[in-house]
Order: sequence, then structure tokens, then C-alpha cells
Amino acid sequence: MSVSNNNNTHHTPLKVYAYVLNMRGQPLMPTTPRKARLLLKEVKAIVINRCPFIIQLQYATGETKQPIKLGVDIGYQKIGFSAKTEQLEVISGTLTLRKDVSKKIEERRMYRRTRRGRLWYRKPRFLNRKKDEGWLAPSTQHRFDSHLRLVNTLESFLPISIKKVEVTNFDAQKMQNPEIKGVEYQQGELQGYKVREYLLDKWGRKCAYCGKTDVALQLEHIVPKSRGGTNSVSNLTLACKTCNVKKGDQTAEEFGHPTIQQQANKTLKATACMNNLRWKIVAHLGAEHTYGYVTKYHRNKLGLEKSHINDAFVIAGGTDQERCRPYEVIQVRRSNRSLQLNRKGFKPSIRRQRYELQPHDLVKFEDRIYSVKGVHCLGKRVILKNVNRKDKSVTIKKVELITYGKGLLFSLC
Ligand SMILES: [Zn+2]
Repeated sequence: MSVSNNNNTHHTPLKVYAYVLNMRGQPLMPTTPRKARLLLKEVKAIVINRCPFIIQLQYATGETKQPIKLGVDIGYQKIGFSAKTEQLEVISGTLTLRKDVSKKIEERRMYRRTRRGRLWYRKPRFLNRKKDEGWLAPSTQHRFDSHLRLVNTLESFLPISIKKVEVTNFDAQKMQNPEIKGVEYQQGELQGYKVREYLLDKWGRKCAYCGKTDVALQLEHIVPKSRGGTNSVSNLTLACKTCNVKKGDQTAEEFGHPTIQQQANKTLKATACMNNLRWKIVAHLGAEHTYGYVTKYHRNKLGLEKSHINDAFVIAGGTDQERCRPYEVIQVRRSNRSLQLNRKGFKPSIRRQRYELQPHDLVKFEDRIYSVKGVHCLGKRVILKNVNRKDKSVTIKKVELITYGKGLLFSLC
């Protein structure tokens, strides 16, 4: 388990919440599963979703809402999210992004080319040779869409008032000027984190002298302070302990690295791709933004280990709030398009027929709810996951569909 607060005792299990909608389907403050079950028993509410557990009230209520702040940690493969009120964390988790998007697009393109190549009677078209404005590579577009989809989903059952997203490690605009004087870069200070993140990016996370990576790097004065060197970032680099000791009281040039000073004088250009995407996400969500060094500073101060969930919690402004049990979210394609050959064995077409039940669907079997692993025997039998800790094959007539398992799928860690 990656979630732990320094002052949170480990032997109390992490809380799970039931999310509540009012009669009009708008989100209210979450409640405990026990209370939700009572409401369901009294027929005052109906079940909307099972995981996360969402109920809708069947009577009008007064609506007291506390501000809920959502933090999103944008990642390359995983998105961390955490929402909290003043006292409690109400939801957290990680969404795993799909990795097969560009491959699938490539495949589709290939099949389409072959298919259309056979349409010899159709005149070639030349109107479609330009990419639309704002076009993103499929994998990037997927990443962008996933962030929006995730936040929209969370907003559908939580009254989120403020959203906050981390954009870059540091404020590149403000760091452009290499002659920032009198920078306090003491470890443990917020400014120190900023300078460190800046230098890590600038020097490619390696020792400037021997090029070693994956070692602890120390801040190093190119011209030592004892020789009149300043604290400005243009006089700072990163070195491993060995090099730092070896260099001692020499300047970088005397140490046999004359180009280091020139490199240090250069300003750092913001790394484009991912950062643009991040700013775009901020704009589309209407979210506030923060920087990585701020997150890192607060996370270390709280004594939390590095994880997407903890980062998101810190981004949301979390401090000593009671944490909740995180969700794991995956994405399942809604339209599982695949090509099939017709009965005579040629002319591929998009598959239209599919089995009633698909993987991840939820079904009722003998009054309990199970997840479907798949069907077999030409769709006559279905395999259910985790029936007495084992997969079980049962006839499809005995199961009843509860919900389709498509889109964003939540499960408790
Ligand atoms: Zn070194």
C-alpha cells in the first residue's frame, strides 16, 4: 500500500466512501457505506454504480456542501488523483493509461489502406492530406482525453469546487534569467527545491563532470564560494560526491572542464511536448496550476513516499487529512472493433456480432455479483471471476447482466 500519512496509524483500515447524488442527479457530499445501505433498505435511495459505490436519493434534501479540492498528478503512464475536504480525503487513486493506442491506429490505417486500395473505381482524393489545426499524435490525444474524462467522471459524483494540476517541475519563465542573485538553495527550503529541480533538468540529471547517472547529486559551485563564486544559478551545477570532493577548491576550468561554465551560462528551454499538453489540460479543466518542486517540497515535509496518489494528495493541498482507500482505474474500449472474414472466407468487414457478455461486465449469479472473464462454448457458457477464489464456468442462462464493463473501470486497491 502506497498511501500512508506520517500521523496515520497503520492498523486502522483505510476508509471507503459511498457517493451520493440528489434527486436531480447532482453530486452531494459523500457518506459512509453503512448510511448508504440504511438508505437503500428504507427505499430512500437507489444504486447508481457499484464501484465506486454511488447512490441516488429518492427524496428532496437540504444541500450542505463543503469545498472539495481535487489534485491531479499528470503522468506519462499513470494519472494520480486525490480529492479532499478540510478534514478528509474523499477519493484517491491511479488511472493507468492505455499503451496500445498508436499501435491500434497504425493497424487501422494499414487495414484501411488495403481495403481502399481494392476500390479501384474510386477516384483518389487529395483533400485529406493536411492535419487539422490543433492535431495531436494519437497517443498524446489519448492522454489528453483521458485526463478530461477522468475529471468529468469524478465531477459526476463529487461536488468538486477547485481543481489543481501540476504543470512543470519549476516555473521556467521565471528561471530564464540565469543571473538570479542571492538564491537561497538550502536543502529543505522551498526555494532550494526550485533551484534543484531547475538544475536537474538543465544538467540532465547526471554529474556534470563524470556524467554518472543514478547517483546522489550535490549542488556544486563552478567557481567556489571561497574564490569569490556567487550563489546565482549560472554558477551552480550538479556533481556526484566523488567529483565534488576531488574538485575541492578548484574552479571547473582548473578541474579540467572548461566548457562547464559556458553551459551554465545558457538558459534552459522548456521541454515542449508534455508541458504543452499539461497547460492545455489546465486550460480545458479551468484548473489552478502548481509546480513540481512545490509538490516535492510538501511531500517530503509530510514524510510521504513518492507515488502518484501521494503527489495528487499534496497537489490538492492535503496535509493531515484522514486518507481513504485508493482506487485503481483502467480503461476498457467501448467499441471493440475488429475485422472478420465473411462466411466465404474473404471480404473482411467490421465484426458486428458479439457475445452478450464481454470481459469486465458485472453479472448476478446465485444472488451474488461477479465480474465476467469471458464466454466459451460459442457463448453458451460464461466464466465468472473469483467464485470462492476461483474462476468458474456456468451456463449463461443462470446469470443476469447488471452493468457493462466499459469505459473507466474503478476497482478498490
Ligand atoms: Zn561525478
